[in-house]
Amino acid sequence: MQYIAPLANLIEHFRALPGIGQKTAVRLAYHVLDMDPAQARSLAAAIVDAKEKIGYCNTCFNLSDQNPCAICGSDERDHSVICVVEQPQDVAAMERMRDYQGVYHVLHGALSPLEGVGPADIRIKELLGRLQDDTVKEVIMATNPNVEGEATAMYIAKLLKPLGIKVTRIAHGLPIGGDLEYADEVTLAKAMENRREI
Ligand SMILES: [Zn+2]
Repeated sequence: MQYIAPLANLIEHFRALPGIGQKTAVRLAYHVLDMDPAQARSLAAAIVDAKEKIGYCNTCFNLSDQNPCAICGSDERDHSVICVVEQPQDVAAMERMRDYQGVYHVLHGALSPLEGVGPADIRIKELLGRLQDDTVKEVIMATNPNVEGEATAMYIAKLLKPLGIKVTRIAHGLPIGGDLEYADEVTLAKAMENRREI
């Protein structure tokens, strides 16, 4: 064993995180050991606290510490427009842009036959459930501009057509193959402005 057991355990936990390789995991673990005890306790508590207090909004399935979330529960938002995204991070990106006034729907993934992700595996049924009364006039497909995101947008557009709801797709000012999450505000604002009906 290269490291004493508690240190090896900590390294193992860091290494399981996305984007963290062995070297970084070791560096983080040593950093934790250098912290004063109060700081280390507060880091551990923050992890537990976030995990315990944050769940999914039952309406839009974004992460929230209340139900409905602050956006779904707000009278100041336009509930006739739903922007459909793949991940909660995408809602955060859209909110940073500040000029979108509608509400959201988080699919938690995109259709991917290759990876075995079908319509039942993402929150499409829940989206359809939100369109049953006549409140919603437009659904904006803001899935990622890659093969899976494109396929998901087209699939949902086809489902919504018979309901007489306008379905639009954000424009490709966004880099093809990129993630919405990493788009800068200006690009995202332009993409929203130039959305087209599908
Ligand atoms: Zn919500």
